[in-house]
Amino acid sequence: MAEPVFQPLPTVPDHPSLEEEVLATWERERTFEALREQNRGGPRFSFVDGPVTANRFSLGVHTAWGRTLKDVFQRYKGLRGFDQRYQNGFDCQGLWIEVGVERSLGLNSKREIEEFGLEEFARRCRDVVVRSSEALTRGSIRLGQWMDWGRDYFTFSDTNIEYIWKFLKIVHGRGWLYMGHRATEWCPRCGTSLSQHELSQSGVYQERSDPSLFVRFPLLDFEGQSVVVWTTTPWTLPANVAAAVHPDEEYGRRDNGEWVATKLFPEDTFVERLAGRDLVGRRYRGPFDDLPPGSRVEHRVIPWEDVTMDQGTGIVHIAPGAGGEDFELSRVHDLPVLTPVDEAGRFYDDYGWLHGSTTTEAADQIVGRLGETGFLVEAGLYTHAYPHCWRCDTPLIFRLSDDWFISVEEIRPKLLDENAKVDWVPEYMGKRMDDWLRNMGDWNISRRRYYGLPLPLYPCACGHLNVIGSKTELADRALEGMEQLEELRRPWIDRVPIRCEECGERVERIAEVGDVWLDAGIVPFATLGWENPTWIEEGYATGAARGLTKADLPDHAYWEKWFPADWVSEMREQIRLWFYSQFFMSVALVGRSPYRRVLGYEKMLDEHGREMHASWGNTIPAEDAFAQMGADVMRWQYCAQPPERNLLFGFGPAESIKRELLTLWNSVKFFVEYANIDSFRPSWEALNLEGDLAPLDRWLVERTHAFVRDAEAGYESYLSVDVMRAYQAYVDDLSNWYIRRSRPRFWAGGDAAAFQTLWYALVQMLRVMAPILPFVTDHLWRNLVLDGPSSVHLAGWPDVPEPDRTLLDEVADVRRVVTLAHQARATSGMKLRQPLRRLVVEGASAAQGHAAEIADEVNVKEIEFGVVEAELRVKPNLPVLGPRLGKELRAVQQALQAGEFEELGDGRFRVAGHELEPDDVLVERLGSGVSAVASADGVTVALDTMLDDELVLEGRVRDLIRQVNTLRKESGFHVTDRIVLTLPESDEPLLRWEDRIKSEVLAVEIRVDGDLAVERAT
Ligand SMILES: [Zn+2]
Ligand SMILES: [Zn+2]
Repeated sequence: MAEPVFQPLPTVPDHPSLEEEVLATWERERTFEALREQNRGGPRFSFVDGPVTANRFSLGVHTAWGRTLKDVFQRYKGLRGFDQRYQNGFDCQGLWIEVGVERSLGLNSKREIEEFGLEEFARRCRDVVVRSSEALTRGSIRLGQWMDWGRDYFTFSDTNIEYIWKFLKIVHGRGWLYMGHRATEWCPRCGTSLSQHELSQSGVYQERSDPSLFVRFPLLDFEGQSVVVWTTTPWTLPANVAAAVHPDEEYGRRDNGEWVATKLFPEDTFVERLAGRDLVGRRYRGPFDDLPPGSRVEHRVIPWEDVTMDQGTGIVHIAPGAGGEDFELSRVHDLPVLTPVDEAGRFYDDYGWLHGSTTTEAADQIVGRLGETGFLVEAGLYTHAYPHCWRCDTPLIFRLSDDWFISVEEIRPKLLDENAKVDWVPEYMGKRMDDWLRNMGDWNISRRRYYGLPLPLYPCACGHLNVIGSKTELADRALEGMEQLEELRRPWIDRVPIRCEECGERVERIAEVGDVWLDAGIVPFATLGWENPTWIEEGYATGAARGLTKADLPDHAYWEKWFPADWVSEMREQIRLWFYSQFFMSVALVGRSPYRRVLGYEKMLDEHGREMHASWGNTIPAEDAFAQMGADVMRWQYCAQPPERNLLFGFGPAESIKRELLTLWNSVKFFVEYANIDSFRPSWEALNLEGDLAPLDRWLVERTHAFVRDAEAGYESYLSVDVMRAYQAYVDDLSNWYIRRSRPRFWAGGDAAAFQTLWYALVQMLRVMAPILPFVTDHLWRNLVLDGPSSVHLAGWPDVPEPDRTLLDEVADVRRVVTLAHQARATSGMKLRQPLRRLVVEGASAAQGHAAEIADEVNVKEIEFGVVEAELRVKPNLPVLGPRLGKELRAVQQALQAGEFEELGDGRFRVAGHELEPDDVLVERLGSGVSAVASADGVTVALDTMLDDELVLEGRVRDLIRQVNTLRKESGFHVTDRIVLTLPESDEPLLRWEDRIKSEVLAVEIRVDGDLAVERAT
């Protein structure tokens, strides 16, 4: 036997091993390089990658989602001939890296890090980045992501850092940089403050139970009277300096002397009532005046308009050293500020018996002491959402801190204008950005840590703030230490003091490092060579990045070419993080947004809708997913997901996707099997179908063109879910309509038009789906395309004419009628092999020219287009109508039940004074005793279920044909083998259909003798 034209396909694809083979082929043939070469000089598509944090040692399925989307749209643009940069990025500094290293070294505080030594600590942090970036690269390649691996950017490169220095210097020149002294959210474990945008990340607010305390402060000049406050942070009470009341609210005194807001205790009786303003100024004894800090404070009642009347007592305990708003109030009312705890959240020495305890440890002691001293009114528990450190999960506290800020007030209007020009998908995410830009506070850029961008700020005793803008400037002004400066990093940088440009004195750098979002935000400038006079080969590989990447530092002309990005994509959380930081920096530096278009997407949960947590055992490492479902199946899950909803990812959904992928697989397998029998050899030249085609072939061609166009619209709007929907509808039409209706043409052999058409459709489909399913499409492509481009990824996007929508509507109507007819049959319990006399069709007028096809499909003798006599039953669609109609629903429901409604056409009804849309109701049409009726979307069919002798006999013939074909298979006959068929005498009447039986079972002869039997014809 001759070598088959096409490789026969197994029944079920083994995705993981098929993918490994494809990866090896890409590697061997340098397919990605060939694509880049092919597109060089083409139109530009500029994508800028948001850096992935290099602190994990395997790719997570969360990260794989974003990486897939990035890959899909870059691959699509690649098919369309766009020249692209394909630069991947790693985020390499900051707390997340530090915390991992601290844990691995068993270090528990900043003091222990310093004892360990900052040089070695920095080297360990870099090691993490090196190992992590290697692992993430491996995972991404396995996922099928095509990037310019090896030329990645690493945000800890000196170049990246220098660009941020330059930014800070410019910002300082505008007067936006300042040091703020204020109470901020503080992580006692990490020993640093957190910025507003860090608090906005998911997982920060967690349910937690805290003590709920009602505490009385005795008034000094009103014997026996006290004000009662409520607090959930006992540790802040030793820092109390004031009690705030709302000046306009009413307060009442209970007969035991306690003052509270009357609104909050409506049941209580009060012996005296006063407006809050009348309590203002009263002095009281503080709860911990026996400790030195409290003893020095004159505690008093102050007015505050923001006191709310929703919980507590309406009197608020004020501790300016331990609360953000409290601190603001201290400025207004000139209150003393007590700072009770140090960087690690432990009480200072002057807090006596509390000294050295953490805020949590102190809580019990404080409650006990309040009980003893008679300050405690009541103690309980209170469950609320409380902020935790997003890196180490420690509950945050408020603490006074000197932080460096960038003022946002001056630039805010420009930010809003620029954001309005960005095209956000989904649209609501742009609104979220707008809200954030309107409400965000100044940007806190300093962190009291080690492994991060060294802030180039040198405040001099003379009052002048020196800001260094580059390494060259540092060298010019350095007093010493340049020779030991391995990297722009602590501890080395701390050994380089400079001369003050104002007074000439020696100045040291501040100890703080920068917010990591500066690192990622500068990327559109640092990686594209903004204002860099000459191109430097491998010029980005500086500092810690040396030896890790071959990335160039391009020149300014390159930046002009590639900035701004045409498209960026990350999860929604990044609105306040990376989308924000690069946007802010870009508008500050060049007055415009760094991106034109954004695709955001929501969260990933497990397949049951729960958050994925290692401790719950429901996380999925990408390796497991690659091994068990394969990258294509993962990519399908990611791409079929509407971005505005959470993705429920898992092995369950993967199984159903594998089954669904079989439709594509089987369509190709069908083609391969019969084309091999027929030795059909398609040629790439003949890809463009011309000339007269059979109606069904012509339909498939048009249907394919419509699919290409629909998918194109999905890709162009960055909605992979639209491409997936178009694909699913198309594959169904291809397999369950075209192939099923054309089977005999392939069996008979020689129908070149059928082979040619099916090949055309399959090949075009593979090109369209290549960005989403890069492995299976290339695998099949390499089998189907004998003399064309060697890879589907090099084949370009199919260029097709506008499809004939009229023809497509006709067949869509036909398929609708057929589906309804099958439903009607199912309700009547009549199997499809039993021919029936008549089907009446109402609606679906476009299907009229296809009566013969419908008759054949649904196995009836006659199709009639006309009016279906059927009883109409209309029920309310409760999930839709319930919320809308409310109390009115009952009246509508009763009227519908009683048949008191008017049909308005197009599926609309008037009932009890309401006009209902098609979605508002469930419509059912019931046939009479001799017909089965089905109805949907304005089409109704009635199937005549009466049988006569003729129909019964034909039904038996069909049963027989099926039985014989099963026998053929069981006997191991080849699909082309001819047979001799023997029938029992009882089947003799069936011979009225002898020719049909012979042709459908490939029988050369039928004998009537004994039992049913088949044998190979000689
Ligand atoms: Zn922390
Ligand atoms: Zn100075």
